[in-house]
Amino acid sequence: MRKQVIAGNWKMNKTHREAEDFIQTAKNEVPSAEQVESIVVAPFPFLQKLVEETEGTSLKIGAQNMHFEENGAFTGEVSPVMLKELGVSHVVLGHSERREIFKETDEEVNKKVHAAFKHGLTPIICVGESLEQREANETMDVVEGQVKKALEGLTNEQCAETIIAYEPIWAIGTGRTATSEQANEVCTHIRKVVSDYVNADAADAVRIQYGGSVKPANVDELLSQSDIDGALVGGASLEADSFLKLVEAGK
Ligand code: 13P
Repeated sequence: MRKQVIAGNWKMNKTHREAEDFIQTAKNEVPSAEQVESIVVAPFPFLQKLVEETEGTSLKIGAQNMHFEENGAFTGEVSPVMLKELGVSHVVLGHSERREIFKETDEEVNKKVHAAFKHGLTPIICVGESLEQREANETMDVVEGQVKKALEGLTNEQCAETIIAYEPIWAIGTGRTATSEQANEVCTHIRKVVSDYVNADAADAVRIQYGGSVKPANVDELLSQSDIDGALVGGASLEADSFLKLVEAGK
């Protein structure tokens, strides 16, 4: 059985104080890591403090992006070495906002995934189609291409340890959730892609999250689907109460 993994992606939100208040409430309330994996994916300036404050608890802290190089003349960037040193456990890579707004390519995402593994960080790789692509019946091809490119060159074991987040762009921050059937259909396809591209064991082990307007009211139905192993949540992860309800649903 795959363990559910619930991650709250705060995006570019919260003050230091708000981040701290959230963590003080959430860190002792999350269920044990044996029951469900819970991660807060916070902006860079909060990471050190949040890692310190959650030490010894079941709540893990992740970053929202990183560069693939270890150091050098990359003004404004943060390296995997820095994240590892902070004690961050996960890193979200290839989020659609990074692909769209910051023009990140599949090649860069793949380099970042390799860098994450090299430095002992678990990548949460985001894939998903735009509304235009869905309407043109391109969803499966788009997602398949993104998954294959992201996993290129990894060992079978690394593929198995990866977390893939299926986030249809048209469902992000819009209140328009994919139906659980729509979400599961694509997650099933992603698992088949991993099976064909890597092997059946990796496909069986890889965790596939759904993301896009997930909230306490729809999380149970989404998580009950056969190939959905968790959620990557934006808006509804910003309040501790709501985040805790989502994590509970993953038990
Ligand atoms: P919302 O939950 O706000 O739709 O955001 C989803 C998302 O992009 C998480 O990474």
